[in-house]
Amino acid sequence: MSLIVQKFGGSSVANAERVMNVARIVTNTYKEGNDVVVVVSAQGDTTDDLIEKAMEINPKPSKREMDVLLSSGEQISIALLAMAIEKLGYPVISLLGWQAGFVTNSTYGSARIKKIKTDRLKNEIGRKNIVIVAGFQGVCKYDDVTTLGRGGSDSSAVAIAAAMHADRCQIFTDVEGVYTADPRKIQNAAKLDEITYDEMLELATLGAQVLNNRSVEIAKKYNVELEVLSSLTRKPGTIVKEATQMERMFIRGVTKDTNVARISIVGVSDVPGIAFKIFSKLAAKNINVDIILQSVGRGNTKDIAFTVGKGNADETIDALSSLDFLKDTKINCDTDIAKVSAVGAGMESHPGTAAAMFEALYSEGINIQMIATSEIKISVLIDARDADRAVAAIHGAFFPEE
Ligand code: ADP
Ligand code: ASP
Ligand code: MG
Repeated sequence: MSLIVQKFGGSSVANAERVMNVARIVTNTYKEGNDVVVVVSAQGDTTDDLIEKAMEINPKPSKREMDVLLSSGEQISIALLAMAIEKLGYPVISLLGWQAGFVTNSTYGSARIKKIKTDRLKNEIGRKNIVIVAGFQGVCKYDDVTTLGRGGSDSSAVAIAAAMHADRCQIFTDVEGVYTADPRKIQNAAKLDEITYDEMLELATLGAQVLNNRSVEIAKKYNVELEVLSSLTRKPGTIVKEATQMERMFIRGVTKDTNVARISIVGVSDVPGIAFKIFSKLAAKNINVDIILQSVGRGNTKDIAFTVGKGNADETIDALSSLDFLKDTKINCDTDIAKVSAVGAGMESHPGTAAAMFEALYSEGINIQMIATSEIKISVLIDARDADRAVAAIHGAFFPEE
């Protein structure tokens, strides 16, 4: 007998018909003699709708109350799916995050899972129940409900698979797997049979929404093999796992991220310690900084530019404005930008990758504002309005149409 964790995203449970479809997938797995734990997200656009409702009332609500609100979306889904499974005649129980033992830290809005107390899950499985767990939520040491950040249900599923030593962890979504680019935007994007944790982590971090990046971190840490597949078709999906015999593809995927703000500080004193003071201030505020560029000094000054998530832009400006040694500088913020990236473990051994990517951008007349590279990715910062064209051009260069 195997334990199988199945996660269904918002579009897979968007309406009654889709909920019944999921109930059938789950009960078929159970019928085959498996124990099944199911994690579900809020239906369709529920989470976005809830955010909108909050903004109508208070554009700056406390993160705690936001979590109380947003966690309600998943509560609806678990109850409806449990009812659908009851209707098909199978034993089932739905559990909220705290009931399923999810303990998180108290960073409301993007809480991290600290542990899962698995007793209840084990008891319910022991009673032969199909267990339906609300994704995206847990409880912190203050007994408050927390949420894990957008797309966090993927992490809930992978964390359960790790804690329960599940035999399989399937992430069902609305596309047939992980593609070389967003299949809704790029027509000849190809489905990948396999991808390594490291490549998937880069793709997810750099904007490929199909898996949440923390879920990939957890999968890598606990060596949970993932299968990403469609809840609407019956086709094999993409396996995410440690690199083994996998073909080292030169480029595994191209992705874009428009959730980026570029902050530039013009006219910073060209003396030691400035970068340290700026970035330690931001670190103390828990602000994640991505691409950093420092200009060559001219006279006694230089410029420093870097990117942060759009949601952190205001806080970053406030933090910088409070630094006395920056009072004579000019601080700018540009949010009409996008980061476009190519990811692939094989690029390390292909010296021409960056040149091919820049040529694709040049052929579209797209200007590059910043560049960042690692062993397995190249990212460029460009105007947001060029982003889709850039992805298509880069994808076309690496995956030419046959
Ligand atoms: P779910 O509701 O199941 O969690 P998401 O909307 O979070 O689904 O993620 C699935 C979406 O991710 C797809 O509909 C697709 O448009 C998008 N996507 C972006 N990049 C990729 C990619 N490289 N491969 C597959 N899907 C991608
Ligand atoms: N419902 C949450 C969101 O929309 C969590 C998830 O879908 O994974 O972000
Ligand atoms: Mg998702």
